[in-house]
Amino acid sequence: MAFTVQDCFKEIGRLEKLLSRTIEGSDVDRINRSEGKPVTVSDDTIEVLTRSLYYSKLSEGAFDVSIGKVSSLYNFRDGKELPDKDLISDAVKHIDYEKIVIDGNTVTLLDPEMMLDLGAIAKGYISEKLAEYMIDNGISSGLINLGGNIVMVGSKRGEDFRIGVRNPESADNTPLGSIKGEDLAIITSGTYERYIMAGDRIYHHILDPDTGYSAETDLLQVTIIADRAYASDCDALSTTLLLMGSEKGMEFIKGIPYAEAVFLKTGGEILCSSSSSKFEIWS
Ligand code: ADP
Ligand code: MG
Repeated sequence: MAFTVQDCFKEIGRLEKLLSRTIEGSDVDRINRSEGKPVTVSDDTIEVLTRSLYYSKLSEGAFDVSIGKVSSLYNFRDGKELPDKDLISDAVKHIDYEKIVIDGNTVTLLDPEMMLDLGAIAKGYISEKLAEYMIDNGISSGLINLGGNIVMVGSKRGEDFRIGVRNPESADNTPLGSIKGEDLAIITSGTYERYIMAGDRIYHHILDPDTGYSAETDLLQVTIIADRAYASDCDALSTTLLLMGSEKGMEFIKGIPYAEAVFLKTGGEILCSSSSSKFEIWS
């Protein structure tokens, strides 16, 4: 039978059913309900977790998928109120990626109250795997967009794809710039899409594991560009750099040879980590 876009949606659904924190019976849900007992999960979940732990170590815990107990307190979709501050201060005690133990296909949480949330990396992982799945099924040209996670499959029939990077401050949707290429992953995280307005402050959805509140950052948006095979890494990195802010983030990304970053600072300044950046400012 011919391969269709419906097969792609099925593959996305298959992975979502493993990795989502909010789907009952998913691998992540079973781990979160395990109360410290070992849980056997799929190869995909192990792969995402292994990569997550890599970025946790590299970022010294700024990126931490054991943030679930805190992130699940927030309602960023239509919430108007912050969670109770005592709940937050209790929940941050249960964030510690070093207490996630992987042994073969078994995951054990050494802190039984800990909860995982793969939200910072799962979309990147799914887009990476979907691209491979499409290629395995004979697709030589395609474009995947999972909520701001862009992955190019091959080229645009022999020509470069051209992807616009959004400027969240532009009233008329003029992009910040564009990126041309083939087989690239382009992944953006921002502080402006999901947030809670409380008092006169904006609380966005990228959280500081030390405080349980939105990370203090001078960045409005971070875009990571790398080869398609690094899409999950790009997703982890976009979240990590946003947390770190421009100075620390710039230093961090310069130590990673396979990816570059484009920062948009609050106030409008654009910074590129690579002198030969694939990003071209819109003009
Ligand atoms: P988006 O999902 O909007 O594309 P990100 O990739 O930046 O954005 O991921 C944000 C999500 O990451 C949050 O919704 C939450 O699930 C999770 N998260 C928040 N803070 C952290 C953190 N410090 N470390 C790891 N994951 C986080
Ligand atoms: Mg991310």
